[in-house]
Amino acid sequence: MDQIVDAINAGASGEDLAALPIPAAYRAAHTLRSEQEMFADVPSNEKDPRQSIHVGDVPTPELAPDEVYVAIMASAINFNTVWTSIFEPVSTFGALDRLARQSEWSKRHAQDFHAFGSDAAGVVLRVGSAVRAWKPGDRVVVHCNYVDDQDDAAHDDAMMASNQLIWGYETNFGGLADLAVVRANQLMPKPAHLSWEEAACNALTNSTSYRMLLSPNSYQMKQGEAVLVWGASGGLGGYAVQYCLNGGVTPVAVVSSPEKVDLMHQMGVEHVIDRKAAGYQFWQEDGTQDPREWRRLGGDIRDLIGRDVDVVFEHPGRQTFGASVYVVKRGGSIVTCAATSGYMLEFDNRHLWMRLKRIIGSHFANYHEAWQANQLICDGKIQPILSAVHDLEHTGEAAWQMHQNLHEGKIGVLCLATEEGQGIDDPELRDAVGEDKITLFRRHGA
Ligand code: NDP
Repeated sequence: MDQIVDAINAGASGEDLAALPIPAAYRAAHTLRSEQEMFADVPSNEKDPRQSIHVGDVPTPELAPDEVYVAIMASAINFNTVWTSIFEPVSTFGALDRLARQSEWSKRHAQDFHAFGSDAAGVVLRVGSAVRAWKPGDRVVVHCNYVDDQDDAAHDDAMMASNQLIWGYETNFGGLADLAVVRANQLMPKPAHLSWEEAACNALTNSTSYRMLLSPNSYQMKQGEAVLVWGASGGLGGYAVQYCLNGGVTPVAVVSSPEKVDLMHQMGVEHVIDRKAAGYQFWQEDGTQDPREWRRLGGDIRDLIGRDVDVVFEHPGRQTFGASVYVVKRGGSIVTCAATSGYMLEFDNRHLWMRLKRIIGSHFANYHEAWQANQLICDGKIQPILSAVHDLEHTGEAAWQMHQNLHEGKIGVLCLATEEGQGIDDPELRDAVGEDKITLFRRHGA
């Protein structure tokens, strides 16, 4: 890969890049099929990604006609990196085996290793024979929707196809590596004013938040509304609050430390709840929920904004869902895309049906939504929320930090980029957007 990195850094043309040999093996963060039971008796929060994530060479697969090889300059940790590495809620090797049954080409995915990672920024090296929109030398970011374009449902909304998968989580050859295999319809232009690691951290969570709050396929918030954002300084929440602020919507941000409260204020969020300081105990020791605590949260929201929220941006799941259903206004919506603290949810249905509330399920984003979300990054209207950067060799450590909720925003990973700050192609645009805005999380996390 050294030759490829030198050529990229020297500004080689697409033709020159296309002439370089693709190595037979490449460095990738991966888990091993032989270790998928290693945490069988370990409590969830003690399962340690540093033990299960390996970084080493894996064989380069052949390229299908609709795919490209991307030289990965930087990638990012997502919560699905944590799920992959602790083999919860199920081992991802099951997904790879199911994918392998779909076609001749998809057999490549069932390996004894899983090279994972669902975000990436880099340079196209080769394109398959059916690729028409991209060429070697293109600087790209990758979104993780692995579209099933042979299901009719995909042609209304790609997230509706029955075989829709998340690249680098339910497929092999993902982004936490020096090379990745990517379908052409996952590519988007790299934001020119951002470094590789700033560009790589956005696509997964930014697109998910975009669909949850702005797409007709989910909830389309309107100026004047108020949104309760759980985990507002996290990967999803850090974009959700920006969408609220951009769109004349009032975010009520929930975080868990004075430092995170300070970060929210620096972003321009006025109404912030520190859930640790408030000490909400939605669940009691006997395993039932305490409606008085839901009411206490509702009262705190009314004290802040003088009314109930129109929408709750949900992802913590079991710990918070009962409260979320209770506090949203009569006729309001709970938009959910995850359940980090447990997916068997419990809520009092009377508050849902008698107050005419709705629960909306949302999952990643289709190509068009991901593209629109990326365009906002390219235009400098939504900022990356990168707070820390590791190198690929320390992927396990980075995943551990996220698993233990020790991070803010996104954790970036340098792959072929040798140091932070490389890859900025448009310094004038960067100046116009503002260094302070672009690096707010990084400076706060440093
Ligand atoms: P992060 O860990 O970056 O952020 C989540 C935030 O949620 C944390 O920072 C924490 O903030 C808060 N949180 C965690 N546990 C609880 C709890 N028990 N009660 C209240 N708040 C809690 O993760 P992401 O935002 O990237 O992802 C969140 C979830 O969404 C994950 O489960 C992930 O797998 C899923 N996801 C789903 C997607 C989809 O397409 N369906 C896409 C992206 C993510 P604080 O401690 O400050 O309150």
